[in-house]
Amino acid sequence: MKKKTYYLKTEDDSLCDLKLSKLLCPVCNGRYNHKTRIVKRSGHDNYQAWKGRGNLIEIFMHGECGHNWSLSIGFHKGESFIFCKQTRKR
Ligand SMILES: [Zn+2]
Repeated sequence: MKKKTYYLKTEDDSLCDLKLSKLLCPVCNGRYNHKTRIVKRSGHDNYQAWKGRGNLIEIFMHGECGHNWSLSIGFHKGESFIFCKQTRKR
């Protein structure tokens, strides 16, 4: 079965330093999401933490909608990649 793709969503689709933008649940657009834990993973320059070679920071979220998901930033050689994914229960 093909895995469903979820997209990082914010309330107004703009991210800038002048205006806060509320993160939404990537599954159902739920507005109330709570941080459950933050995990730092070392990629050992060998793709061990994510699709890239470097380190990863994951912020695990639990939505009042019932969905669990994570907001992640992957790092490698000065480039940074942000993405989200649906996760299992806490
Ligand atoms: Zn949701």
